[in-house]
Amino acid sequence: MGEALRVLANGTIQCPKNPIIPYIPGDGIGPEIWDVAVRVFDTAIARCGDGRQVAWQKVAAGAGALESHGDTLPAETLEAIKQYHVAIKGPLTTPVGKGFRSVNVALRKSLDLYACVRPVRYYPPAPAPVKHPELVDMVIFRENTEDVYAGLEWPKDSPEAKKVIALVEELSGKHIRPDSGIGIKPISQSGSERLIRMAITYALEHNRPSVTLVHKGNIMKYTEGGFREWGYALAEREFGDVTIREADLWEKHQGTMPEGKKVVIKDRICDAMFQQILLSPQEYSVLALPNLNGDYISDALAAQVGGLGMAPGANIGDGAAVFEATHGSSPKDAGKNRVNPSALILSGAMLFAYIGWHDVADNLRQAIARSVASRHVTFDLAMQMENAVTVSCSEFGTIICDNLEG
Ligand code: NAD
Repeated sequence: MGEALRVLANGTIQCPKNPIIPYIPGDGIGPEIWDVAVRVFDTAIARCGDGRQVAWQKVAAGAGALESHGDTLPAETLEAIKQYHVAIKGPLTTPVGKGFRSVNVALRKSLDLYACVRPVRYYPPAPAPVKHPELVDMVIFRENTEDVYAGLEWPKDSPEAKKVIALVEELSGKHIRPDSGIGIKPISQSGSERLIRMAITYALEHNRPSVTLVHKGNIMKYTEGGFREWGYALAEREFGDVTIREADLWEKHQGTMPEGKKVVIKDRICDAMFQQILLSPQEYSVLALPNLNGDYISDALAAQVGGLGMAPGANIGDGAAVFEATHGSSPKDAGKNRVNPSALILSGAMLFAYIGWHDVADNLRQAIARSVASRHVTFDLAMQMENAVTVSCSEFGTIICDNLEG
């Protein structure tokens, strides 16, 4: 028996000792990594003590739900996530063929999970393509609902594309080739502000030194440029006593943080940012980005520190949050008990931090760090690591449990 956690009007989460947390095991490799992850979670919680225990509640989604409920995302699953405010999921296969919506996109839209949050840090000695992967310690806040991903697209020669072309030519006086496909890029002030507000709040709560707005505002002035402008204005208006613009820090304070200020707000043009994450990753901590930039940078950073098997994530809105590994359901590996469960376990660590169980979250992260350092790891890490021993998914789970404190 468990209880629902409560979200207060100001967004504060009140978590009981026995919260009900819905979970979706997922498709393909999902069930086997979930079995390992939940064993690790329950062990970590028991070791941290205080009488806490999660009442895990299975809910259906994905290919399995199509068979059992005739729908890849049954209404009762959405209701459970709304009621209990958090959920954790394994990867879901999007069935190939027309008429099947992506469950991941449907979840995000139905629950208005507007921020895709991905912490990226290095677990030595995981194989990485750069000389100093340990300098990467960033948390990405990617806007999830707008931009060229809003689904406003029409194929070339369609009546809609022709109409839009005619309207744009009339408004702008510019010529568009008649054989163009058309897509629309909406970026709103309100959509940008809520995402940037979440990123700054996170930085303040986690003692992070900076938030960088990553945009292409020099070219797309009213969309990406707006994101930058609205971000700076919001920081000044709502967090002015504790944040400072990077330009002011240098021009007015010679680079020394003034008394009381906690977070530097910076901005970078997106293409330059791809250089920066390789050349000076230590200068960046929290990133806030529109949807497309965020998509690209998330995968680039995950690769920089050792790839998909270690990359956790979450989709977060104001009343609900769904935690999930970044990787997919890898059907070719399903049932072989060989893949890396770390990404899902680290997504669980994000969930526990979100509900205020920071001791459990830290315990999980440190146990993963110690387990990777032991060089007894799953094949994806072992095949590129010197002196490594390949272990199965479930054996790696046992190693992680053995490395938990308490
Ligand atoms: P994938 O992430 O499943 O696999 C890509 C590669 O990464 C494969 O070589 C695989 O072996 C490797 N890999 C993935 N997870 C791993 C792990 N835990 N340990 C070790 N290696 C791992 O991507 P894909 O093949 O493009 O997609 C397969 C299915 O997953 C598709 O149906 C896709 O729609 C779905 N998908 C779901 C999500 C999600 O649920 N969030 C995300 C991406 C893809």
